[in-house]
Amino acid sequence: MQFFVIFHVAQGLVEIGAQWIHGPSKQNAVFQLASQYDLLDEEAMSEENQAVQMGGHPPDMSTYYTSSGKRMGPEITAPVEELYAALILKSREFFHSKTEPARSLGEFLKHEIARRAEEWKGDVETCNLKLALLNGEFKLECCISGTDSLDLVALQPFGEYVPLPGIDCVFPGGFKSLIDAMMKSLPKDIVSYNKPVKCIHWNGSFKTSNTQEHAYPVLVECEDGETIPADHVIVTVSLGFLKEHYQTFIRPPLPASKINSIQKLGFGTHNKIFLEFEKPFWEPECQLIRLVWEDESPLLSKRPDLQKEWFKKIFGFIVLRPMERHGHVLLAVLAGEEANFMESLSDSDVKNCLTQVLRRFTGNPLIPEPKNIIRSKWYSDQYTKGSYTYTAIGSSGDDIDAIAQPLPLASTKAQPLQVLFAGEATHRTFYSTTHGALESGWREADRLNDHYLPFSSMNAKL
Ligand SMILES: Cc1cc2nc3c(=O)[nH]c(=O)nc-3n(C[C@H](O)[C@H](O)[C@H](O)COP(=O)(O)OP(=O)(O)OC[C@H]3O[C@@H](n4cnc5c(N)ncnc54)[C@H](O)[C@@H]3O)c2cc1C
Repeated sequence: MQFFVIFHVAQGLVEIGAQWIHGPSKQNAVFQLASQYDLLDEEAMSEENQAVQMGGHPPDMSTYYTSSGKRMGPEITAPVEELYAALILKSREFFHSKTEPARSLGEFLKHEIARRAEEWKGDVETCNLKLALLNGEFKLECCISGTDSLDLVALQPFGEYVPLPGIDCVFPGGFKSLIDAMMKSLPKDIVSYNKPVKCIHWNGSFKTSNTQEHAYPVLVECEDGETIPADHVIVTVSLGFLKEHYQTFIRPPLPASKINSIQKLGFGTHNKIFLEFEKPFWEPECQLIRLVWEDESPLLSKRPDLQKEWFKKIFGFIVLRPMERHGHVLLAVLAGEEANFMESLSDSDVKNCLTQVLRRFTGNPLIPEPKNIIRSKWYSDQYTKGSYTYTAIGSSGDDIDAIAQPLPLASTKAQPLQVLFAGEATHRTFYSTTHGALESGWREADRLNDHYLPFSSMNAKL
């Protein structure tokens, strides 16, 4: 799982995968479990925190800087933040309507912004700054959706993802503390690590030397040659892995309907770069240093020169808090092609480049180089091939459901529930999140329970 990966920097920990419980409130399965295990701090547990509607976006306590090294005041940034939040809310409404005004989220937002820009034309300088600010919001949205461009995100199903209430919170002991707590209830050594699976053979009749009398329909073939027969297998590999290996990973091959959905859904990269500094150069109350490239606008589309401009996709630097837990650490996040390209660079190139960016935007040429850098490389990780799922143009929640369908599909007479599918890409309303991944696992476990114990599970629900 992506949230297993935790690195310890000098004073604290950083998570190169999932970090926040998105929407920590009663309907969030990760929050429920974390509360049950008493893993969260008082603030996260407060009823007040759980009631706040964030709409899936992080709290915005940002300090904005422009590419010419000037700080921007709330008189210009606040109305743009408000406008963007309203446009995103509006984008979600088309899920319930029969027609949508554009195919992609990007197209819709650009159309709405172009209308507003007409009204701003009187003051060219302010108009350009507003457009530059909105371009920064697009970059943040690309990270949230894990996509290269909002032009790739389908507008109609965008509103089917459900943002839960609650101010995003973190695990003081890292996401790993949840896994550790869950593992305590399992027998020791029941989980095998570093055991890549090469192929899942299904619809067969596999026997082992110890169980000659019982034939299993499924055989899991591992890369190291070991084979494990099974009655049922729940597959939770990433959609990125499935996209690349669906032809060889499951034999007989997946039905065409599933392949079609695997190909249509989107799976992009969201990468993190942590920079650790000797001392903070930011103000104590600063939560997010936002970068506004003055020459950019969502209305100007230009293919980036990755070599020269990859870092322009970073929307800002998040200050890890509290300082006592993390040390003096900034987190830059970026998505898409630029995030993939960043993985090919050396640590020192990235560190050097981001130091230049920070000096330029803050207007402070004395900012020292960070003493440490840690970054994710989710695109080149052969077992993830990216970060998480989004509904790309041409796809919808039906494709998510199609991937979640167990094999064999209901219409055949073969032994049922041989291969089941879980993972974030199989959760129609919480895809791209840890709570979606967790719920999908529970869903498949329930499916098996219901298969074997239909009456007892019904009684339990009554
Ligand atoms: C940078 C980043 C930040 C994120 N931030 C958040 C966040 O703050 N909050 C949040 O809720 N979510 C966040 N997410 C999303 C969250 O991490 C995922 O939604 C979640 O981890 C999905 O879980 P999963 O089990 O479906 O898939 P994964 O976590 O991708 O797990 C799939 C597992 O399958 C393994 N695997 C793949 N192929 C094979 C094979 N052939 N054999 C054996 N094993 C294999 C992989 O190694 C991996 O361990 C973030 C993701 C990223 C990348």
